[in-house]
Amino acid sequence: MTKDCKTTRTATRKCLVCGHEAWRIMYGMIMPDAREQYPKAEFAGCVMMEELRIYPATGKVETGVPKWACQNAECRHRWW
Ligand SMILES: [Zn+2]
Repeated sequence: MTKDCKTTRTATRKCLVCGHEAWRIMYGMIMPDAREQYPKAEFAGCVMMEELRIYPATGKVETGVPKWACQNAECRHRWW
């Protein structure tokens, strides 16, 4: 999950639901000075919450850890 961390640390995505900018979610202990290198990231601490989703194409239920978080306060969609 961190293999492309360096090259994409400032990358953002568009929310699939509302089209708003979404930021990468970063897990683990991250020092304040390191956080400054990631101005567009959400820091989730050490707790990795698995979430359930139903994958639209297959209808199968999957579990995973969200990697992206919509920054629209009214949406807050998270996905991976
Ligand atoms: Zn959204």
